[in-house]
Amino acid sequence: MKVLVINAGSSSVKYYLYQMPEARILAKGQVERIAEESSTLSAFFGEKTYTAQTEVENVEEAMELILETLVRPEGGVLGDISEIGAVGHRVVHGGEEFTGSVVIDEKVIASIEKYADLAPLHNPPNLAGIRAVQRKIPDIKQVACFDTAFHATIPEVAYMYALPYSLYEEFGIRRYGFHGISHRYVARRAAAILGKGKYDINAITCHLGNGCSITAVKQGRSIDTSMGFTPLEGVPMGTRCGDLDPAILFYLEDKGYDGKQLKTLCNKESGLLGISGLSNDVRNLEELAGEGNSRAKLAIDIFCYRIKKYIGAYAAVLDSVDALVFTGGIGENAVLLRQLICTGLGQIGVQIDEAANQAATGKEMQIQTEQSRVKVIVIPTNEQAAIAKDTYERG
Ligand code: ADP
Repeated sequence: MKVLVINAGSSSVKYYLYQMPEARILAKGQVERIAEESSTLSAFFGEKTYTAQTEVENVEEAMELILETLVRPEGGVLGDISEIGAVGHRVVHGGEEFTGSVVIDEKVIASIEKYADLAPLHNPPNLAGIRAVQRKIPDIKQVACFDTAFHATIPEVAYMYALPYSLYEEFGIRRYGFHGISHRYVARRAAAILGKGKYDINAITCHLGNGCSITAVKQGRSIDTSMGFTPLEGVPMGTRCGDLDPAILFYLEDKGYDGKQLKTLCNKESGLLGISGLSNDVRNLEELAGEGNSRAKLAIDIFCYRIKKYIGAYAAVLDSVDALVFTGGIGENAVLLRQLICTGLGQIGVQIDEAANQAATGKEMQIQTEQSRVKVIVIPTNEQAAIAKDTYERG
């Protein structure tokens, strides 16, 4: 069966066409800069690449372009669009309702629409992608894979905030957690690498990309995660502040900041960028810190320190830790940061081997020393493969 995986955001739509069950990629690509003056389509199939500049107004148009590209006489990989057996979508917010991936029907669509209130930047483009496929290929089976679903097993004690309980009842204010498709994927991979069953592993998984989150996985299930009601909570990120004394915001309000400015401050101007004043990209910061730039070094140090604190906290809530997993652009590639994060974690049984850490860039590899009680594993994430698998199993 051929499965099309769609990751639709407000400014880009990524796609992957898989041959299942072997999970072979037949084609992939993306439409970027949607609703800007000129949008770019990049399509990859086999060894070949096809790019085009065009005007794409919205996600629906991007989906149409993608479906057309798949059947183009030159470079298309399908004779007809009906060869696609099922379509899997990444959907950011599934509220408390969805604890796993589901076949999409009108009821599911209504729920995704409802949770757009909790994820106003993400659920609407996700939904637009689903609707566009419905229109183009009316009878096709579509599956929604939620970023929140893996975290549905987090117990009340970890998901409730210490706010009046009525806010949970009235507005659904609680920890939902995100990056669940990635945390689940790497937790399952880690179990397989260690020869354990998927519900037989305790792990701390660190997804460190543009957004960053840490998850405590007990017997294969998420029991706590650093992102919360929104993806702003937790460790600092490229441009997001992570955990903060909320009184800072009240104080800044007294100083004249309005709600919109505070939102921008916390989401777009903080984190690695805010501290360094230079860049949100770890590659640049590593280089600048190497040249002696103290603010770049401080940004990296704060980032690693705060991640280390979460790892310590999650070691405390898990009975024992089998594996510490690094994934995401930073987790998979940033050798120096992994070293900084793991230094001093000997107390909880984490010791990494310098040479192995150096060698592990962008590939699956264990990097602990022989004495290390906890296995430390770099695992490139593969959210699209996880979505393809869920879709195939439900299609
Ligand atoms: P997203 O969360 O958008 O999927 P990624 O997981 O690709 O993003 O992570 C992007 C980030 O990963 C970049 O901003 C950069 O900080 C970091 N990164 C990517 N490659 C490297 C590298 N070779 N060394 C250090 N950091 C890297």
